[in-house]
Amino acid sequence: MVDRQSIIDLGSRLVRQELGSQWHFQLDRARTRLGACHYDRRAISLSGHLLDRIDLSMARQAILHEIAHALAGRTAGHGPKWRVAARQLGYTGGRTIKMEQAWSDARWLASCRHGHQVLRHRRPRQATYCGRCAQQGSRQKLAWQDRRLVGLSAALSAPDRSDQAVSPSGQNQ
Ligand SMILES: [Zn+2]
Ligand SMILES: [Zn+2]
Repeated sequence: MVDRQSIIDLGSRLVRQELGSQWHFQLDRARTRLGACHYDRRAISLSGHLLDRIDLSMARQAILHEIAHALAGRTAGHGPKWRVAARQLGYTGGRTIKMEQAWSDARWLASCRHGHQVLRHRRPRQATYCGRCAQQGSRQKLAWQDRRLVGLSAALSAPDRSDQAVSPSGQNQ
């Protein structure tokens, strides 16, 4: 559960640093992909809906993926030019960031009593509450489980449709 302001701060900082002040960062309402690069209005965006499923390091990677698109240009796709830019930025993922892959790598799985699930690479120190229940005005504590102890795939129930094969795709794809 990364809070929106942390993501906006991170995205704004990375975009300014790598692309200059003519570009900006924003959250969008997409449900089927995580990030996008909008050449026309010079913006990098991440889905606000998917933020409660990722942690800050995943968000950073998604932002770098899209910044590489901005640097490589509209016609580059995920070709060599994009790959060079992405590597120089410190992007370590592939042509797409699949949420499934993020799910499969994260060590800690939390569930609330309504079956919402959250994955994190690190276990939060403090008590954490379900973000999706919070949106409905309900405060539900999350129970954390170390997936290394139970087998990485064993503990996952089927994610929502929106979690499957979510990839950053801009107008470039
Ligand atoms: Zn919940
Ligand atoms: Zn891409």
